[in-house]
Amino acid sequence: MNKGKTILGVSISLILSIAITFLTNKNDIFKTQIPTESYQVYLKGEPIGLIKSDTELYDYINEKQQDLKEKYNVNQVYVPNDIKVIKDVTYENNIMSVQSIYNEINEKTPFTIKGYVFTIDRTNSTEQIYDTYEEGMEPEKDEKAKIVKINVLDKELFKNAVTKTVFSFVTEEEYENFINDTQNNIIDTGEIIEALYIEDKITSKEAYIPVNEKIYTNEEELTQFLLFGSDSNMSTYTVGKGDTLESVANNNKMNVNELLIANSDLRSENALLYEGQTLTVGVMDPMFSMVEERHVVSDQIISYKTEYIYDNTKLIGEQYTKVQGSNGVTRVTQKVKSINGEITNALISNSEEIKPVVNEVIVKGGKKPVIVSAGNWGWPTNIPYIISSNYGWRWGRLHRGVDISGTGYGSPIYAAKPGVVVDVAYHNSFGYYVTINHQNGYYTRYEHLASLSRYVKKGDYVKMGDTIGDMGNSGASQGTHLHFEIWTGYPYASGSVSYNPLLFY
Ligand SMILES: [Zn+2]
Repeated sequence: MNKGKTILGVSISLILSIAITFLTNKNDIFKTQIPTESYQVYLKGEPIGLIKSDTELYDYINEKQQDLKEKYNVNQVYVPNDIKVIKDVTYENNIMSVQSIYNEINEKTPFTIKGYVFTIDRTNSTEQIYDTYEEGMEPEKDEKAKIVKINVLDKELFKNAVTKTVFSFVTEEEYENFINDTQNNIIDTGEIIEALYIEDKITSKEAYIPVNEKIYTNEEELTQFLLFGSDSNMSTYTVGKGDTLESVANNNKMNVNELLIANSDLRSENALLYEGQTLTVGVMDPMFSMVEERHVVSDQIISYKTEYIYDNTKLIGEQYTKVQGSNGVTRVTQKVKSINGEITNALISNSEEIKPVVNEVIVKGGKKPVIVSAGNWGWPTNIPYIISSNYGWRWGRLHRGVDISGTGYGSPIYAAKPGVVVDVAYHNSFGYYVTINHQNGYYTRYEHLASLSRYVKKGDYVKMGDTIGDMGNSGASQGTHLHFEIWTGYPYASGSVSYNPLLFY
């Protein structure tokens, strides 16, 4: 700096200082400070603070710009064009650091970079309904934001992340075959994807994105956001000795399917885990709804039952097989709609017997015993059927029953065992429901019926296989199905235990 100017500056300051001294109250004389040269920084015409040196601020801004350019790998970072720095003389000593001025500017009018804002509009999308109930809880609905905005610098990054997320629900091969119309026709059994689409409206526009907003530059990170919603929903798990897909899923409030979706490299339920392997775990909350409609033809095995005939003329303990049992096969054609890998609607459009079931008949010596085996449970719906959701964790909540669908709206629901009807009622979550006390400690619960049962009332005694209601879609339900529960103790009462019903068949 020029020496002469400095001296001039100092002398002007001195003169001003003296003038001020004369103008101020006597008592303040000793408090008066020597005025200092400073710079007032204005943003949009508003003063935001004093700094010691303008060049220091400009250097700092340049440095920050450079950092941002490197961070986002861009050529240009836009500084708010309404920053003004005006030389001033002050008697205050509240000079701010350039860092705090910079932070102040960035908070009010952040630096921007050119990129794209993608908007996922879920306003008209299907709401996720959780058919899981916890004591005191109202039916839960989708609490996702209706509008999600995602900032990226490169359009391709967003597209790739969406595609990767889609591959969590359908395999790349299935996707390619669907897109290119090269799916194999179904000869005997198999499946065809009839529709595959994202239900939400996704739009994009070029924009100046404030650098203090989240800007995605990593494909993996964006993919995980699209799958889990918030980063806080997600964590990693290191596989230990003896871990299985089931145990890892269960310990993290997930089901195996969700674990496979979150770790697309695992792919199949037979995937082997190895010690030290890192898995992504957490409650998934996908940012979009991918709808799949499949036409499925599959063979369902109908297990044979064993009947006992008692022959008085033979000795107790003696027995022989009169008819050898053999399983039947039914070919079932289904239409299945799922959203983000979970079945929301399923209907059996055709079923054809390929091989009849032959029940086994065993002849035993002696009289028919009085106590009938407690083992047999009757299936609560028509056969064939589709299990649309298993017992276990789903979307971070415990699903305490099994969802059975495919047999159609209004199809009969049967008592799984003899017992006394204890509920014929309506509930916000369960819809129209029936509860049966089997008087051996077990209770069964039948939910989402079409209406208040027209077959039974509270206090009625039912036999196994009696019709107790019609399949429906009432309460917290997304499509026609029966939500079937087996408990010891009255459902949801304290001390009662729920079981996976499929383990009883
Ligand atoms: Zn259910």
